[in-house]
Amino acid sequence: MRMVGLTGGIASGKSTVSSMFKHNNIPIVDADVIARDALKKGSGGYKKVVGAFGPDILQDDGHVDRLKLGRIVFSDASKRQMPGMLVSFIPREILKLWIKGHKVIVLDIPLLFEAKLDKWTKPIVVVWVDPETQLRRLMERDNLTEEDARNRKSAQMSLDLKKSRADIVIDNTASLAGKVRRGSVSGQKALDMD
Ligand code: ATP
Repeated sequence: MRMVGLTGGIASGKSTVSSMFKHNNIPIVDADVIARDALKKGSGGYKKVVGAFGPDILQDDGHVDRLKLGRIVFSDASKRQMPGMLVSFIPREILKLWIKGHKVIVLDIPLLFEAKLDKWTKPIVVVWVDPETQLRRLMERDNLTEEDARNRKSAQMSLDLKKSRADIVIDNTASLAGKVRRGSVSGQKALDMD
């Protein structure tokens, strides 16, 4: 079974690209959905996270603040075991698809490199976007001030660094309408998989 790694930066367009894979009937393992389930209020994962980081890790509504969690976990080497806990849920999803006989699946995960899952995926597809376009889309989508959007962006591994580690770069700067007509894939032969 071939596992394609799909990653990128905040608001770079991963979900948009991943929905295109879905439209082509390629199964997706969505790490965000897995993380959301694993951290559901009252679940084992939730209790572990609150136990490790205290109530400060919760939002006002009592749910885990995943942005805050990500920031702590990836800025403090002593807390790096936490993503491992979430990542441990991923193989179960992969196994389910393998049992169903899928030859190609896409692992859609914003933190592919940070969680060191890149060694399990080939090719690695990075959805890249011009930094100013990324900022604008992030502000519009999440209704953020420019300062907040810049802070969220700078809390992540640089998108250019991810790009340098990609097998395939999808430049998602152009508007979607233009993209569907022209496409914009660079790097190795696009999804050459047998
Ligand atoms: P995150 O990891 O932060 O959830 P993401 O990488 O999955 O983000 P998307 O949610 O797909 O990014 O895209 C971010 C925003 O930009 C969305 O509002 C989306 O509709 C818009 N967008 C994505 N690609 C394009 C495009 N090519 N043209 C115009 N708008 C786009």
